[in-house]
Amino acid sequence: MKKIQMKTPLVEMDGDEMTRIIWQKTKDELLCPYIDLKTEYYDLGLENRDKTDDRVTVDAANATKKYGVAVKCATITPNAQRVEEYKLKKMWKSPNGTIRAILDGTVFRAPILINGIKPYIPTWKKPITIARHAYGDIYSAVESKVEAGSKAELVITGKNGEEKRLTVKEFDGNGVVMGMHNTDASIASFARACFNYALSTRQPIWFAAKDTISKTYDHRFKDIFQEIYDGEYREKFGAAGLEDYFYTLIDDAVARVIRSEGGFIWACKNYDGDVMSDMLATAFGDLAMMTSVLVSPDGNFEYEAAHGTVQRHYYAHLRGEKTSTNPIATIFAWTGGLRKRGELDGINELCDFANKLENACIKTVESGIMTKSLAALSTIENKKAVNLDELLCHIKSNLEKSMNQE
Ligand code: NAP
Ligand code: MG
Repeated sequence: MKKIQMKTPLVEMDGDEMTRIIWQKTKDELLCPYIDLKTEYYDLGLENRDKTDDRVTVDAANATKKYGVAVKCATITPNAQRVEEYKLKKMWKSPNGTIRAILDGTVFRAPILINGIKPYIPTWKKPITIARHAYGDIYSAVESKVEAGSKAELVITGKNGEEKRLTVKEFDGNGVVMGMHNTDASIASFARACFNYALSTRQPIWFAAKDTISKTYDHRFKDIFQEIYDGEYREKFGAAGLEDYFYTLIDDAVARVIRSEGGFIWACKNYDGDVMSDMLATAFGDLAMMTSVLVSPDGNFEYEAAHGTVQRHYYAHLRGEKTSTNPIATIFAWTGGLRKRGELDGINELCDFANKLENACIKTVESGIMTKSLAALSTIENKKAVNLDELLCHIKSNLEKSMNQE
């Protein structure tokens, strides 16, 4: 069989632990036999990040800017215990944080839906994609405890030194206070990433905040989204036959999401996105079935699985045990990247292959072959829990069947 040829390389970011094992197996079993895989390889494994003083992460992010599409394996974000375990020179920052800072992107997370693994919400038929604004608000706030009798003020010192003072609270008893911020530029680039992603995936988009209570702060988000939509996207949405962008209050959004059928993008402020993405992942079934893509406002894409490096399984693997680690979200990171590369380079065969590989994963699970954690959730009759290698083997055989059907 002739292998599919690529034009532009994919930026490949390798990672850590069990997902690094899955990464290699996916390439060896499911990609390289069928594609003349062209990648620019960056080893973001913790050892190499340490060896290169984390230069490799910055290089990988810059390569993503250059080529436009990347696939990333899950990576360890070191904490004190990891510094000890890997004898690190220092506690390197989260690679995802570094990449996001360079690409200035928004993260979209979407579940992979499978018949026989029912979401906890029976009305949900299609995926709900969460877009989280990953800048500012309480994540870069300053906060303090306050003693009784204190007065807390918000002081804004202008360019020319003039001060604006707002009383936050005159405290009778002890308490706490917080100051947080966001920037127009960051909100605008979040809005553009959301509108671009809605166009590129042809899905409606909702945004929600608490503008009735926060008449300046949250209202600014609402206004910026609306201005950008009206000025830059309304016509494009019309031309694509997409529903108009929809704003509603966050409480109303939560109620509508639960009653909906799914099939839309839900743009959230930073904290809402943090909380709601965990709610959605659980309600749709399994963290191991959640995909994630970072989209920058100038149109670069970085695909990954939403889960981490599955450390406990890795230690079992090192002991020589067969693990029941689910590779599907990692495979979907690859198919997401390959399909986008195919679209950008006009290689239909590549898009086609990506679709077939995704279908092979879904078909395998729907036929009852799945990893242990999925089997625990599934209502499929005669289901069988298999280990990682067995699952990959079944996926490969379903992939080949669909390729031979042509
Ligand atoms: P995790 O790797 O997502 O694993 C949490 C638990 O979820 C696992 O112990 C496992 O449960 C289950 N799980 C997750 N993915 C699975 C899969 N594919 N198949 C089967 N079960 C799966 O999160 P963590 O343990 O909090 O973090 C481990 C490391 O990953 C950390 O060093 C963290 O820094 C890193 N991390 C990286 C990313 C990223 O690169 N995007 C994201 C999150 C975390 P059982 O053990 O019960 O089977
Ligand atoms: Mg969270």
